[in-house]
Amino acid sequence: MAHNKTLSESTTDEEPATPEDGETVLELDGVTKAFGEEAAVEDLSLSVTEGELLTLLGPSGCGKTTTLRLIAGLTQPTGGTVSIRGEAVAGDGAFRPPEKRDVGLVFQNFALFPHLDVAENVAFGIDDWPADERERRVDELLELVGLEAHRDKMPAQLSGGQQQRVALARSLAPEPEVLLLDEPFSNLDVRLRVEMREEVRRILKEAGVTAISVTHDQEEALSISDRVAIINDGELEQIGKPEVVFENPESKFVASFLGRASFISGRVRGDIVETPLGTLSTDQINGPVSAYDGAQIDVLVRPDDLEATGPTDGLADGRVVHRQYNGPSFVYRVELESGGVVRCLHNHVETFEHGQEVSVKIVADHPLAWYPVE
Ligand code: ATP
Repeated sequence: MAHNKTLSESTTDEEPATPEDGETVLELDGVTKAFGEEAAVEDLSLSVTEGELLTLLGPSGCGKTTTLRLIAGLTQPTGGTVSIRGEAVAGDGAFRPPEKRDVGLVFQNFALFPHLDVAENVAFGIDDWPADERERRVDELLELVGLEAHRDKMPAQLSGGQQQRVALARSLAPEPEVLLLDEPFSNLDVRLRVEMREEVRRILKEAGVTAISVTHDQEEALSISDRVAIINDGELEQIGKPEVVFENPESKFVASFLGRASFISGRVRGDIVETPLGTLSTDQINGPVSAYDGAQIDVLVRPDDLEATGPTDGLADGRVVHRQYNGPSFVYRVELESGGVVRCLHNHVETFEHGQEVSVKIVADHPLAWYPVE
């Protein structure tokens, strides 16, 4: 068995697992998967520690699902190795089929058995357990996912969120070493999606399972994960805790994929940066820029880093070309005189009209990331 502790021994408010403090459960070492000439996954190396929830994030076609399939054993790598608890399950001359990997999979559409009730669905993967242990495990899991009262219902009688809970309980039942979740929230409506993010994280943490999830939704990745791996065109761009990858994106690709990023061009002058929206001092810039003295750089600005006002001294920086009303806030898209478009986040009472001329101020209270122009 992968986990000897019972569910009740773990708590929900535990510190999230970090790569430093756990044993490695899953390791990908230089994993490549080529389809003909094209590599869907290229030289991918990462490891996941006991109890950690890692999310693979990237645009459509970047190789997330292929990576999940390589871990599950549904497809074979053309290079590199996949190891679980230090043992190669693919590559290095080894190949263990999915059913021999101790890996659970939660499908996008939940894939419940329509002719089995909730308890029978949950018990499906442990039908070889002694009856009393099986019953205890099903009870424990139904309590974990909050479905004790629905144990005799058929899947068709459940809401989307309840179906997802059953799918999770079913995959957790055999105590897999690794649980894989493929776009776990894509089948839920928007409101439920946000609610279930919290709930799924709670369930995974309480179960203590090591999990890898896949999504193209950055907000989802940032909100549920212990660490996020950003994949671009089959390659790992950056891996780290959500707040680290969000605040310190190592590449322009990562920056533009997280948050509604815009870039303003700046010119380095000694250790400060001149931009069309004002001069940035050393403490407004992430790391020293002096090595790029005289060079052009791109500075990352997100909507909450900027503020629009009426034109200062009759001088405007640009014009509002779009206003998005989100209820509590407005996001104004401003086309700058100097070229480029930025977004400004405002309280719902601060209104500007479409086409209105505005000044734009940098109001970020953190150092801004920047990238040399190549
Ligand atoms: P999405 O978010 O759209 O599901 P993804 O990031 O999961 O995308 P993959 O499904 O892993 O992306 O696909 C990565 C690349 O590999 C794509 O270019 C895809 O066309 C290609 N690919 C995937 N499976 C195969 C296959 N069986 N044969 C040939 N090419 C494939």
